[in-house]
Amino acid sequence: MKAAIVNKDHSVDVKEMEIRAIQAGEALVEVSHCGVCHTDLHVKDGDFGEVPGRVLGHEGIGTVIEVADGVTSLKIGDRVSIAWFFEGCGVCDYCVSGKETYCRSVKNAGYSVDGAMAEKCIVTADYAVKVPEGLDSAAASSITCAGVTTYKAVKVSDVKPGQWLAIYGVGGLGNLALQYAKEVFNAKVVAIDISDEKLALATELGADMVINVKNEDPEKVIQEKLGGAHAAVITAVSKGAFNQAVNSVRAAGRVVAVGLPSDSMDLNIPKLVLDGIEVVGSLVGTREDLREAFQFAAEGKVVPIVHNRPIEDVNDIMQEMIDGTINGRMVIDMSL
Ligand SMILES: [Zn+2]
Ligand SMILES: [Zn+2]
Repeated sequence: MKAAIVNKDHSVDVKEMEIRAIQAGEALVEVSHCGVCHTDLHVKDGDFGEVPGRVLGHEGIGTVIEVADGVTSLKIGDRVSIAWFFEGCGVCDYCVSGKETYCRSVKNAGYSVDGAMAEKCIVTADYAVKVPEGLDSAAASSITCAGVTTYKAVKVSDVKPGQWLAIYGVGGLGNLALQYAKEVFNAKVVAIDISDEKLALATELGADMVINVKNEDPEKVIQEKLGGAHAAVITAVSKGAFNQAVNSVRAAGRVVAVGLPSDSMDLNIPKLVLDGIEVVGSLVGTREDLREAFQFAAEGKVVPIVHNRPIEDVNDIMQEMIDGTINGRMVIDMSL
């Protein structure tokens, strides 16, 4: 089968490979779509550890074409997702308390196991979340990572209906955070970015206020006009956005970190203590979070912006990501 594979020199090649036979508890999926994500850049560059030979891809959608004996959670013909949270151990404290993405024995698709940027992918049947009917596969692929990640982050922010949520970065992740915040959580949103184009899109998607950091100081504007946001979600990958987010929330505000710059952030300890600011990280989402995120998308509350591309474009797409020229999500369509 054809697959996008990481090389020793951190490049990616699309080439032919053999896929092994499925084992107990597994299913074989014929992949139709797989989104390309910033995390794929980190994986290919060896930022989380070197993985030569690995098949990339953790935003996969496909149809089950084979199940191992004894598998009851999936059947042939089911449409399923292949997500970054590929499998947990199922028995540790994290796994049994709704925090399975933090399982210390977690497996991640396209990183610690072969992923979905390929014609076929083997999944652990009990961990492959089914895609509801009525949700287009390219859109579903975007929900599998960007969607569930931002849905979860807004959930973690604990923003209440009518309250202000500041979203730092309204690109591929942020525009989905915005849609979930508006359409599902009924929050008011201030969108912050450095791109007028992305902010124009945010306005179209219902942002109540937009701030271009190049022209205005978000901390000042948000504190002066809103008395501070009730919460902030950072999808941007710049350290500056993290510091601005902390300074733009009101007392007792919660700052949720999702973007992954390889930096440390500055935290003013008196501000943290005296204002009771909470700063928390949020990593993708559980299977249940993904089911919920899928359902809201199937109901049309959240519409990912996707562009279908052939798998041969994978290196071009990664370059476009580095250049920051993508609006929405590039999705590899295996039929192209
Ligand atoms: Zn991703
Ligand atoms: Zn576990």
